[in-house]
Amino acid sequence: MSVQAAVAAAEQTHDMKFLGGGTNLVDLMREQIEQPDALVDITGLPLSEIAARTDGGLSIGAGARNTAVAAHPAIRARYPMLSEAILCGASAQIRNMATVGGNLMQRTRCMYFYDQASRCNKRQPGRGCDALEGFTRMHAIVGTSDACIATHPSDMCVALAALDATVRVTGAAGERSIPFTEFHRLPGNTPHLETDLRAGELILSVELPPLDWATTSVYRKVRDRSSYAFALVSVAAAVLVGDGRIEDVRLALGGVGTKPWRAFEAERQLQGARASVDRLRFAIDAELAGARTFAHNHFKIELARRTVVSVLGDLLGLGGGR
Ligand SMILES: Cc1cc2nc3c(=O)[nH]c(=O)nc-3n(C[C@H](O)[C@H](O)[C@H](O)COP(=O)(O)OP(=O)(O)OC[C@H]3O[C@@H](n4cnc5c(N)ncnc54)[C@H](O)[C@@H]3O)c2cc1C
Ligand code: SF4
Repeated sequence: MSVQAAVAAAEQTHDMKFLGGGTNLVDLMREQIEQPDALVDITGLPLSEIAARTDGGLSIGAGARNTAVAAHPAIRARYPMLSEAILCGASAQIRNMATVGGNLMQRTRCMYFYDQASRCNKRQPGRGCDALEGFTRMHAIVGTSDACIATHPSDMCVALAALDATVRVTGAAGERSIPFTEFHRLPGNTPHLETDLRAGELILSVELPPLDWATTSVYRKVRDRSSYAFALVSVAAAVLVGDGRIEDVRLALGGVGTKPWRAFEAERQLQGARASVDRLRFAIDAELAGARTFAHNHFKIELARRTVVSVLGDLLGLGGGR
């Protein structure tokens, strides 16, 4: 099958889903949370290539398996935070199956979303949200709304947000590119609409711009056990230092946001600043100033603060950040 044929097949069914590795979609179908009328198997499409771009960046095909991306020499050498983020996710077996496109589109792990007996606005718009008064240890503290407080579960997407990636998609109206930080939506009043992807659109690739100083970047994930667990807090970071000052910085957080959370405010507070632990604390506090916590997740503020200070402190050689 060709990309054009897959898009044309998608056009023919109202409620169609593309099938990548199936590691999320098939589970959701088994639980009857997703019941598409048709599946279009895209695993045979020529979308697995990881190739150099003319601007010095990298293009990662949407069909590339998570394992292949994490192991790719250029990604390990030039964007280590991306390789580390992928290796922190799921298990080796799942990563062997899971694709880049599927990782971007994976759905939340909110336990009420998976429980048909619970009210969930994401599953049934307008029904209500049982998480708001429920067990919220894993839930978000930024980007939330009165309709939904579920975290975005991906590790890979946190690194892609930090790296200013772009998502290339195609559909009936042709090809377009979406900045990664705009690809996932905030829940607002419509938590069932999770991305900017239009009906029938297929993700073709994720494009990474060149970023020379990302060679020392880091992804750190804090979770309840050291494998096979979703993040309580995670941090993707890269920093460029000159003359004791932070010339440039990239920072994104996982486990705290309703979407992969690029810490734009913290970055603003750090640009041009003299590197110090106090400045790092100030920056992350500014980022989380608007955080809203729930019954069981207030700890995420301090955990995020400590993890950011520790990761950036290590990158800056400050020590003492932990
Ligand atoms: C037990 C378990 C633990 C996990 N732990 C983690 C973790 O710690 N961190 C983490 O990041 N992830 C984790 N995952 C999630 C895993 O990474 C995702 O299931 C996987 O990335 C989905 O990829 P897939 O190719 O299998 O997608 P599929 O299941 O095939 O599809 C998922 C969604 O993506 C859509 N889709 C797929 N490809 C495209 C495309 N090219 N264009 C448009 N839409 C597309 C499908 O239609 C579907 O809606 C875990 C999963 C499991 C089962
Ligand atoms: S937090 Fe979101 S996904 Fe979870 S129950 Fe509420 S509406 Fe559903």
